[in-house]
Amino acid sequence: MLEGKVAVVTGGTRGIGFATVKKFLENNAKVVLFGSKEESVKKAVEELKRIDEGYDVIGFYPNLNDFNGLEKVFNDIKERYGKIDILVNNAGISARDSIYDYKTEDFNKIINLNVNAVFNCTKAACKMMKEQGGGVILNTSSMVSIYGQAAGCGYPASKFAVNGLTKSLARELGPDNIRVNAVAPGVIYTDMMKDVPEELIKPVIAGIPLGRIGKPEDIANAFLFLASDMASYVTGEILSVDGAARS
Ligand code: NAD
Repeated sequence: MLEGKVAVVTGGTRGIGFATVKKFLENNAKVVLFGSKEESVKKAVEELKRIDEGYDVIGFYPNLNDFNGLEKVFNDIKERYGKIDILVNNAGISARDSIYDYKTEDFNKIINLNVNAVFNCTKAACKMMKEQGGGVILNTSSMVSIYGQAAGCGYPASKFAVNGLTKSLARELGPDNIRVNAVAPGVIYTDMMKDVPEELIKPVIAGIPLGRIGKPEDIANAFLFLASDMASYVTGEILSVDGAARS
């Protein structure tokens, strides 16, 4: 579905991002994954090459809050592949601090990665997408961007902002043939959840009409659809992929 496309996926070393990178490679895209550390980027690229040594995948670990550095990395990618068709802004962190104890620096840390980095990567990519005649920008939102959550207000606030960027940029960039959409995952089984005891997971599952926690691949499939030409008339959407869970 992505033959000949070049994609950049932030937060691509594990979890939802890694599954998305893998899905894009399986669909014949060339993929550049970003992570936060050299070691995790190297490990992810090696793991993908072990699955299929023919995969065209490389990795970088730029500081997503340094626009000038990022622009250089995006230019390097363009020099290597000639274009960037798809950007997935997926890197993100969460926290569940109570407002009574929430430290300003912790709130800012969430906004810096979940919002400011999305702005920076989008800004770096959309110029070249416009020059090349179009592109696709996809963001990872969350189900908490619709209902909020009862603790850790910084995280839902950041994902409400992601939805705002998605809807606004879809309107601003549509005339340049750049589609902008987001996927809002529900509860997804990533590394974070491996150590959560079953008695804590059971009540979560009870609140999900489809009766299971989501898999990273469920989100990767949604990204694949939105990245592909199958979604050529879809822009400005926040696609819930959550089994109808409502937190
Ligand atoms: P994860 O912790 O497994 O992976 C996070 C990724 O982000 C990693 O690749 C990591 O390298 C990267 N990252 C973290 N801090 C970074 C930094 N400072 N600079 C650059 N990269 C950094 O997370 P995940 O669960 O796969 O989440 C991915 C996205 O999905 C996030 O935006 C998250 O908010 C969203 N999400 C996750 C769930 C869930 O249940 N897992 C639900 C809704 C939304």
